[in-house]
Amino acid sequence: MTQIDKTSKTGAYRIGIYPGTFDPITIGHRDIIARATRMVDHLIIGVAVSSGKGPLFDVEDRVAMTNYDIEHNLKYNDPNTTIEVVPFDNLLMHFAEEMQADVIIRGLRAVSDFEYEFQMASMNEKLNDHIAAAYLMASDKYQFIASRFVKEIARMGGDVSRFVSEHVAEKIKEAYAK
Ligand code: ADP
Repeated sequence: MTQIDKTSKTGAYRIGIYPGTFDPITIGHRDIIARATRMVDHLIIGVAVSSGKGPLFDVEDRVAMTNYDIEHNLKYNDPNTTIEVVPFDNLLMHFAEEMQADVIIRGLRAVSDFEYEFQMASMNEKLNDHIAAAYLMASDKYQFIASRFVKEIARMGGDVSRFVSEHVAEKIKEAYAK
């Protein structure tokens, strides 16, 4: 795991973690990433192995696609914030502690995410109440975008180019052609 030096001239170096499955990364995720960079100095995108969820892409591919999109397709991010994509297979709070994170950032889509996030936040707080949780409301443009639906549309031969980058759309097509 990467060792992060938290010392800075101001002493106010903030590390955030944005965790998820990212199977695959969508423009909704990208929007949260860009906005999250404006809140922290270093942003770790934690890609959960989530083998139980039966992801379409293995974790190496999800990390590679996320890195590609960050490098080529990120807009309106704070250029002073560094971004790192790190896979993890342990409890989120343990991963956050290992990464010396100050805050866990999640996106909230309409009402659908709220109950789950509310429960998870309460449980996480019991595990470590020094790591804060922050929620960014999904942009109204991207509210309805979920990796699950993108995969469903692609599997049925639909066009997903409005929801994911060209690169990711190509990877999904390849995955279903196998
Ligand atoms: P999970 O499997 O935990 O739902 P996802 O990869 O689906 O992980 O999502 C990771 C995070 O990104 C979650 O906080 C989720 O709410 C958020 N997210 C996913 N899609 C969007 C979107 N279109 N707009 C805003 N946030 C989103």
